[in-house]
Amino acid sequence: MKIKMTFFQKVKFIVGNGTSTRFWKDTWLGDTPLALQYPLLYNIAQRKEDYISMVLQSVPLNMQFRRALVGARWDAWLHLVRRLMQVQLSNHTDNVRWILAANGVFSVKSMYLDLINTGTLSRSLKIWNIKVPLKIKVFMWFIHKGVILTKDNLIKRRWRGRSNCCYCEQNETIRHLFLQCPLAKLLWRTIQIAFNIVPPTCISSIFTTWLNGVDVKISKLIGIGICALFWAIWNTRNDITFNGKNFNNFLQVIFRATSWIRTWSLLSHVDSRGRMDIGCNRWEMVARVIFNRFGWRANNRLGV
Ligand SMILES: [Zn+2]
Repeated sequence: MKIKMTFFQKVKFIVGNGTSTRFWKDTWLGDTPLALQYPLLYNIAQRKEDYISMVLQSVPLNMQFRRALVGARWDAWLHLVRRLMQVQLSNHTDNVRWILAANGVFSVKSMYLDLINTGTLSRSLKIWNIKVPLKIKVFMWFIHKGVILTKDNLIKRRWRGRSNCCYCEQNETIRHLFLQCPLAKLLWRTIQIAFNIVPPTCISSIFTTWLNGVDVKISKLIGIGICALFWAIWNTRNDITFNGKNFNNFLQVIFRATSWIRTWSLLSHVDSRGRMDIGCNRWEMVARVIFNRFGWRANNRLGV
């Protein structure tokens, strides 16, 4: 909801006939919605969802307030009316312009940069500095916020499927899928053996304290790996849950992750690319050894 609100504040409405632009809540006169420019009036307005055409259809203006317009409210009202007198409705339909881009066209990137710069997204989150594609950062941010559509969240939205994890039979939550599922534990175990990295204890620590004390360059590389791991767990889960694909074993997830890490390494400085490739080889090798010795069932012994 907060995001939606932010989105509409970044759209400027070019008013034509005023039938699809909300008087108080859309940005059309000035750089912010009138609700923000005139809070004293907005708070006592009776119909906060009215469109411009409804408000401006008559003289005096078609607007009722719950309280008398006195004092500061009266001053604000005069100020607003003076500006509204300049507005001319036309026969054209209303149009929108995305105010964050010079060409007025919406893009994810401009919205993302704005969310970061206005503090709607926490800048301190390490995820924003990691060299992965933007959609992966947003995916990770959704995990951090606890809003990706794992089955517990789907059910809250009246989804009628089963709530079980596709890798085991427990209930699927974000914490379960990425940390506590036997598959997740086994994957984390391969990382621990390959790189001597202790798995995080909870989802929120991944984004905050988990890699404290680790060299910054190394922790950024680990961050890329974790993004790939989570993205691989998620996409494999989607394939199984929604596309009817079979799950063979955990190598499937790891090879998927390493293939993304190799692709994403092009976003990193050339010095880091070699290290990332070595890291991928190492992870795959450890995973193969574990698989060859213990098979998928090893999850019960190694992962837990
Ligand atoms: Zn599970």
